Amino acid sequence: MTDKSRHGGELLFYFPTRYEDRRTPVKLADLRPTEAGEKSVAIARVVAVEKRRTSKKNFTLTSALLADDSGALLTAVWFNLPWIEKVLRPGTLVSLYGRVEMRGGLQITSPEFEVLEDESDADLAIVPIYPLTAGKSQKTVRRAIKAALETELPKIEDFIPQKMRLVPDLQSAVRELHAPTSREAWLVARNRLAFDELFLLQTGLALRRKKVGAQFAAPLTRGKFFSAFISSLPFKLTNAQKKVLTEILADLKKTHPMNRLLQGDVGSGKTAVALAALLVAVDSGKQGVLMVPTEILAQQHYSRITKFLPNVRIAYLSGSQSLSERKKILASLKSGDAQIAVGTHALFSANVEFKDLGLVIVDEQHRFGVLQKQSLISKAVRPHVLVMTATPIPRTLTLTVYGDLAVSVIDELPPGRKPVETRAVPRGRIKDVLRFVLKCAREGRQVYWVCPLVEESETLDFASVLKRYEELKKCLRLPTALVHGQMSGDEKNDVMRAFERGETVLLVATSVIEVGVDVPNASLMVIDGADRFGLSQLHQLRGRIGRGDKGGVCILIANPKTSEARERIAAMVETNDGFRISEIDLKLRGPGEVCGVRQHGVTDFRVANLLRDREILQRARECAEKIVESDENLANEPVLLEAVLSRLGEVLDIAKTA
Ligand code: ADP
Ligand code: MG
Repeated sequence: MTDKSRHGGELLFYFPTRYEDRRTPVKLADLRPTEAGEKSVAIARVVAVEKRRTSKKNFTLTSALLADDSGALLTAVWFNLPWIEKVLRPGTLVSLYGRVEMRGGLQITSPEFEVLEDESDADLAIVPIYPLTAGKSQKTVRRAIKAALETELPKIEDFIPQKMRLVPDLQSAVRELHAPTSREAWLVARNRLAFDELFLLQTGLALRRKKVGAQFAAPLTRGKFFSAFISSLPFKLTNAQKKVLTEILADLKKTHPMNRLLQGDVGSGKTAVALAALLVAVDSGKQGVLMVPTEILAQQHYSRITKFLPNVRIAYLSGSQSLSERKKILASLKSGDAQIAVGTHALFSANVEFKDLGLVIVDEQHRFGVLQKQSLISKAVRPHVLVMTATPIPRTLTLTVYGDLAVSVIDELPPGRKPVETRAVPRGRIKDVLRFVLKCAREGRQVYWVCPLVEESETLDFASVLKRYEELKKCLRLPTALVHGQMSGDEKNDVMRAFERGETVLLVATSVIEVGVDVPNASLMVIDGADRFGLSQLHQLRGRIGRGDKGGVCILIANPKTSEARERIAAMVETNDGFRISEIDLKLRGPGEVCGVRQHGVTDFRVANLLRDREILQRARECAEKIVESDENLANEPVLLEAVLSRLGEVLDIAKTA
């Protein structure tokens, strides 16, 4: 978020990421080596200083010998700061702040320091540490902010309505964040500023709700296509599927647009629910759209619906189609000849028009940005919208980024599923893995071998995927195929169909198969370089197996180097539970990243934290609602309105409200 509207005070909203407590200097005699990450502060007088070049790397090393009245000595060293020698003349009194080590004697390494007139001159405070951009030092930033606190602070404008009277007031809160006086005062100030950010966003969302709430959607009711589909399913819907379908049907009947999130773990059967809902649109004489993140998945859905419903007219749209093909499809969408469109983000392009769009379903929503969805939705008057995800989205986010999203949960897997057994194996034991692959192949199972290459973007590791494919083919002598993001749509499709038919036993793949792909006979997955995948991604990948009755095995080949990577692998081995997985993922990566909303900046708060500030969020939401309820164009709150529009108008699509 920018702070344009806080006139002149931009810099004041550049907050420290942490603080260092430099209030208590230590006598040199009491100084001890510091723990990792800790620092000490001392005040001492320079006894001697010298500068020399080190032979090895052409460094200059400046060292000063320091003493205080405790009788002990301390050596301070700095690298490549030759000017220090001139500043620290013998006799100079300095305060030093840094890491203390035992190097022969006590040594303080690359400390920050300040020359003092006398002991009382020391800036013994809780010192803010700012995130630095290149070329700036803490000292420069601190000095600039100190100046801004004097000149700019009195001018900053509080957008919080006067009658809410927050404590502390904005200026005191901002000052406290840069120059904390106590832990308690800081916390109250911090919470007030977090409230500001959340309140602003909630006000924007409340304005948007007003706008959307007034919109009309065509009510949809089920009919013969819907019924035919349900009875043609080769299985009985689970109770959970029935429950969410009932919720969706009830929404679709209404005259204002559905805005619902369907959440269900990988393999819980969201597709059947989605297809049924699309047919309700068709039954009502409207068009339905199913948008999915990859071509492979789009193809899979397309061929299934076509098979199930030979008399529904379905269009398939992807980025890799020829121009003439595309033209034909666009025409059929516009004329209404196509009743259902299945496709990738190609459905977003500006020239896609529908005759009468009744329902939009976005599968695996975390892969799309919120804005992209908007562009599709705004095509029709107002279609009903269902977004589906396997990643549980925390309530704070559904309230924050998605506005008022109703949530349906499929909390039950189809019967007969056996949990996937997950094992972590170090690289050195790849031979065992290969033997196991052969054993599984002999039992008639099919195998995925996944290599870390991010789809459609990277060429970097491309060679290694190809190489792996060649090696596996040669060494295992199984019917093997390769699929990756740089193949054409048709090529990918051919490979996947052959794998579905069982002609291919081993499928070497990049993460293009991450979402949705459904081949029940594939029950072994090897993830090569598993430490390079994100946690949710690993869980999604694993969701490809264990779909049949054989029970799946997932082998993670990894030598994780960071503790975060180790945690991801451990989490995978420990649990199959998508809710648990996403909790851990949220902890490791933060909500913006996990839910694919990062890029919009909506959750890029400077102070607020969506995981921690639930209560503040709730309060901010209630306050925002109350304000907008009584003054729906914010006519009495021009400062607030200006702040909302300038920072969120575009993202939230409310610019025209006022
Ligand atoms: P996801 O929720 O991950 O999108 P899918 O919709 O791909 O899951 O369903 C996973 C598998 O479960 C598919 O093979 C699907 O045919 C099957 N399936 C879905 N619902 C049921 C059910 N009620 N009973 C048995 N199998 C089902
Ligand atoms: Mg799916």
